[in-house]
Amino acid sequence: MESVKYLIIGAGPAGLTFANMLKNAGEDSFLVLESEAEAGGLCRSKEVDGAPLDTGGGHFLDVRDPEVVDFVFSFLPADEWERFDRISRIDLGYAVIDYPFESNIWQLPEDEQVEHLLAISRAGCNTGAQKPISFSEWIPWKLGEKIAKDYMLPYNKKMWCMDLDEIGTYWLEKLPDVSFKDTLLSCIRHSSIYESLPGHASFYYPKKHGYGRVWLDMADAVKDNMAYGVRASELDLDERTVNGQYRGERIINTAPWTGYDSIKGGTGDFYESLKKLKHTSVVIKYHDEKSETDSHWTYFPDEGKEYHRILYRSNFCRGSKGFWTETNLKRADLDDGHECFVNEYAYPVNTVDKREAIALILEEAEKKGVTGLGRWGQWEHFNSDVTVKRAMMLAKKMIAQA
Ligand SMILES: Cc1cc2nc3c(=O)[nH]c(=O)nc-3n(C[C@H](O)[C@H](O)[C@H](O)COP(=O)(O)OP(=O)(O)OC[C@H]3O[C@@H](n4cnc5c(N)ncnc54)[C@H](O)[C@@H]3O)c2cc1C
Repeated sequence: MESVKYLIIGAGPAGLTFANMLKNAGEDSFLVLESEAEAGGLCRSKEVDGAPLDTGGGHFLDVRDPEVVDFVFSFLPADEWERFDRISRIDLGYAVIDYPFESNIWQLPEDEQVEHLLAISRAGCNTGAQKPISFSEWIPWKLGEKIAKDYMLPYNKKMWCMDLDEIGTYWLEKLPDVSFKDTLLSCIRHSSIYESLPGHASFYYPKKHGYGRVWLDMADAVKDNMAYGVRASELDLDERTVNGQYRGERIINTAPWTGYDSIKGGTGDFYESLKKLKHTSVVIKYHDEKSETDSHWTYFPDEGKEYHRILYRSNFCRGSKGFWTETNLKRADLDDGHECFVNEYAYPVNTVDKREAIALILEEAEKKGVTGLGRWGQWEHFNSDVTVKRAMMLAKKMIAQA
């Protein structure tokens, strides 16, 4: 049995940040178990057709927290990154408009604009109807029947490949919030108007490397404490052991709770809650074709198209060509000749009952010295900068308590 003070499961941004915080604080008794041969998790990149491709999908750094900026740039310095103002679009088949939809209706033909404005004026949020609790009902309530029909419902059906009634509405502050007044004004003024900018309004991407580079550098800084190719399959909460082979005074779990073959030591409610955690899988496919757009990425609601998003690599990674697509695994043809990367765990799903389920899991595990951290440990749609921030905060707290 190999024993350490901190046993960290997973070498994605969460595990790597936590490990480096320990090292920076002079702590050496820690071990990171990573099932893959390389660090980086969903943020990994691979050289494809002469340039980097982000194998976990389009990854951009949109970071405002100065502490996170300093931490990330201490591994890949600021001058190694290029800053972009986001250009993203929605391809409706008959027209391509800028994102977000509600701010750019003015780019559609006039008769379409009128139909949209009428539909939004009748949307529940503008007529005083109560906010629904399921995502499928929230969409027309917030955006009107026409955006729901033309964009949001088909797009989200493609992206999630599940009954949208199962998804809750408590996470929707992540989406842009454009008022009806701003939509009207943008149609009159023929320019996009919104009070708060959408996520990734501006972002960084490494000049010469894919997004994966920064995490490789982070892993290298703690290379003596890394064990690659070790999948944590059995977790014992009472003993704080993994695979009957590794023990931690504390275990930091960044791996999906539902990915273990067995977890021992939970109550009946713990195992019932595990069954409620849902995730979706994403396939990334490389296409070597040229595209005539300045968009960084475009959303495709058309259910006739396999993918839901295209990322135009040459528009954010200088000297590269081609583009890649993102497709839910349930819709993806893996044998169509394109180079593919399958991410089994891509999105934790914000199901209606998820919050209670993950809260119970985290509370029980915590009492036994096992802490959930990151996108999978906390089952939240955290972007990498938020994951880094959470890991920094947790490490500081644990170091202070030690
Ligand atoms: C399509 C897509 C686009 C995204 N775009 C952005 C973006 O533009 N900007 C942004 O900041 N974020 C983005 N994200 C989110 C980003 O990927 C996550 O915030 C980040 O990867 C979370 O880090 P993590 O360490 O918590 O999880 P992960 O990156 O998933 O890392 C978990 C690690 O644990 C390992 N592991 C899993 N199970 C085990 C096990 N049993 N034993 C040992 N090791 C295990 C995995 O191999 C992996 O290395 C995007 C995510 C997706 C899916």
